[in-house]
Amino acid sequence: AWNFSAGPAMLPEAVLQRIASELLDTNGSGMSAMEMSHRGKEFLAIAEQAEADLRELMAIPDDYRVLFLQGGATALFATLPMNLANGSGRADYVRSGHWSDKAIREASRFCKVNVAADCEGNGFSRVPAADEYRFDPEADYVHITPNETIHGLRFPELPSVEAPLLADYSSSILSEPVNVRDYGLIYAGAQKNIGPAGLCIVIVREDQLQGAREGTPSLMDLQAQAKAGSMLNTPPTFAWYVAGLVFQWLKAEGGLTVMAERNGEKAALLYGAIDASDFYSNPVAAECRSRMNVPFFLADPALEDTFKAEAKQAGLLTLGGHRALGGLRASIYNAMPKEGVQALVDFMSDFERRYG
Ligand code: PLP
Repeated sequence: AWNFSAGPAMLPEAVLQRIASELLDTNGSGMSAMEMSHRGKEFLAIAEQAEADLRELMAIPDDYRVLFLQGGATALFATLPMNLANGSGRADYVRSGHWSDKAIREASRFCKVNVAADCEGNGFSRVPAADEYRFDPEADYVHITPNETIHGLRFPELPSVEAPLLADYSSSILSEPVNVRDYGLIYAGAQKNIGPAGLCIVIVREDQLQGAREGTPSLMDLQAQAKAGSMLNTPPTFAWYVAGLVFQWLKAEGGLTVMAERNGEKAALLYGAIDASDFYSNPVAAECRSRMNVPFFLADPALEDTFKAEAKQAGLLTLGGHRALGGLRASIYNAMPKEGVQALVDFMSDFERRYG
């Protein structure tokens, strides 16, 4: 079966096999990874290796810190203004879909948000054009969501900004190389392209760690977490360990350039099938289409339940669209091989032949 879930999502089979093979005795320690003390040398070796591998994969410069936090990306929606909107107390947000909207709503509780551009006017079908941004010159930072998981919208290019750029990379981290230097901070919930839920990775330039505002819960204080090596309290050790295995898998597969090539091919195959027929559609402008999350619609929405049920029978799982948008959606993260996308495309063509 192929699992097209948006998250928690498919993990590479090789990683699952490795977990299974060492579940009772990880790295010859006589303990399972999930039984290790987070301060013991066995787990610290796992944690340090995971960070080193991530640094290598993403070419993270030395003046950036890598944090392994809990609370998911949603916790970061509040953590960011508490830590980084302490100059003018104002921040620019680009509203490009469901998740940036959530980030805006949460940040508005902790700082003055300026929506620097809003894609609702174009139905979230393209990112803003360069001349559509209205940045606040006093903003402490600019926040974007480079890949909107529900609307399937991707920024082909970054906006040109003066203030530090903060990016929610939850659904596209590790899918292609990024220039970490373009950002003041990158964050991503793990449960799509990194590993199991329960972990949120933060990559932050040291100069952004100026200290959180008064009243910030200590677990959400990024400077304190950086000082404590992400271990102010017990971190999500098992998720951290699995993330490390995924990083090793990515390195063995050839790294992010290879991933970008594969992801480009998979996306082209699926969008090609959607565009080749009036039976299926995707509303996003070609250059802004996500390579990770592909929402699509049937010309006759009444057939959606039949599509999902028959797809499931054919071993194609979790193809329902998000409840906020409806329709269908295939998430094709790094762990989804081209073979899985081909199976979906074959099924779509057969379904259209029978119902079109
Ligand atoms: N941001 C994006 C882009 C997402 O796709 C998601 C989850 O799907 C979130 C944030 C929320 O993540 P979490 O559930 O880890 O808080």
